[in-house]
Amino acid sequence: MNSKILEIENLTVSFDGFKALNQLNFSMDTGELRVIIGPNGAGKTTFLDVITGKVQPTTGQVLFKGRNTRRLSEHQIARLGIGRKFQTPRVYLNLTVRENLDLSCNRNQNVFATLFKPTSVAERHTVKNLLATIGLTRKAEMKAELLSHGEKQRLEIGMLVAQSPAHPAGRAQRNRRGEHLLLVDEPVAGLTDSETEQTGDLLLNLAESHSILVIEHDMEFVRQIARQVTVLHQGAVLCEGSIEEVQNDPQVIEVYLGQPYEQDE
Ligand code: ADP
Ligand code: MG
Repeated sequence: MNSKILEIENLTVSFDGFKALNQLNFSMDTGELRVIIGPNGAGKTTFLDVITGKVQPTTGQVLFKGRNTRRLSEHQIARLGIGRKFQTPRVYLNLTVRENLDLSCNRNQNVFATLFKPTSVAERHTVKNLLATIGLTRKAEMKAELLSHGEKQRLEIGMLVAQSPAHPAGRAQRNRRGEHLLLVDEPVAGLTDSETEQTGDLLLNLAESHSILVIEHDMEFVRQIARQVTVLHQGAVLCEGSIEEVQNDPQVIEVYLGQPYEQDE
């Protein structure tokens, strides 16, 4: 097994000559939980877009478990074991929490077949565990539209996990520890303090079985979950280290004080 789940070498992405990513080098270990921070426009979302194949590198490469993803489609990359959670929750609002999870467990089947077929015992067990993991057991039969923003975020993280091969509901192979990579873009934007903490606990719990890359602005949250932090600035890595090391780095302080804080999107 490759000890690195992700290796990024000299990655540059140009948009009409503007380098959103500029000779970026990065790697993370299998099973690691990594947090990426950086000011607006640093290239964080573009970075995830390249990993998932949504954006092609201008130069440089992305290796997932040692394999170059350059010629693969977004769909093929997802099937290798990379799941992404976008900033805005993408759940089916008219379906219940349980139905949303059922669908994710059966993502290759059609919606009607999933909703009207009897669920297997194994699958019921999986969904039950997932509901407990995301803290929504008591709201399982509630329509997703009635959930709070934080609950929708947790449901979507649960749906990502249901799709992952690392999860018993996922495909049987490749279920070794941390073999599935979850990419999570700003999971706590707009959440209350207690919802933020619950999301942090959820990611820490999932980190025991997945590799996770989280992008986040909220420093309180970063302190809650982060072991290793990478700071992006102007499309490249500015510094890397523990949260204390990063917060005391003079370059990082300058970058953050040099521009007023703004919420993304
Ligand atoms: P972050 O997520 O760190 O705020 P982004 O990755 O969204 O940063 O953007 C990095 C830079 O690249 C920004 O200056 C942004 O305006 C620019 N950019 C992002 N996507 C495009 C695009 N499709 N075309 C042109 N410029 C883009
Ligand atoms: Mg962004």
